[in-house]
Amino acid sequence: MLKRIRAVGRVAEAAPAAPDGGLSRGGEFGGSIQVRHVDAGSCNGCELEIVSAFGPVYDLERYGVRLVASPRHADVLLVTGPVTRNMADPLRKAYEAMPAPKLVVALGDCARNCGIFAGAYGVFGAVSDVIPVDREISGCPPSPEEIIAALREVSGR
Ligand code: SF4
Repeated sequence: MLKRIRAVGRVAEAAPAAPDGGLSRGGEFGGSIQVRHVDAGSCNGCELEIVSAFGPVYDLERYGVRLVASPRHADVLLVTGPVTRNMADPLRKAYEAMPAPKLVVALGDCARNCGIFAGAYGVFGAVSDVIPVDREISGCPPSPEEIIAALREVSGR
């Protein structure tokens, strides 16, 4: 089996060309970003698309994007959902725990403007009401292709 794996090598479709410029100002992330995901009150639809983007079909890691378990290890905070009252403080703390330089990506319409949950009693506000947002990804939910394009823009790869 190992011989066969070595003989076949890696089989994947060719990667599209790298995006121009991007949010990684001055290439400070070196084509590789560590991403901490925070669900601030999502319905879980956006999470399913994130899982798909990192799955074997789309393989987002091949563009230098990796999920990490702690904001202390992260360059990018990827936030989904409207920010609920109970999540406003933890979201702020997660942002403050990240080392500089750092970027925030608001993923999905709920993260951008509270989406279908706007005005709900438990909703504090959009992500930008709590922490500064550098990039928004619209959609309810955004497709894996849209998530990948946005995060490639950030990694510059
Ligand atoms: S944007 Fe849509 S899929 Fe994402 S958390 Fe809001 S309602 Fe759910």
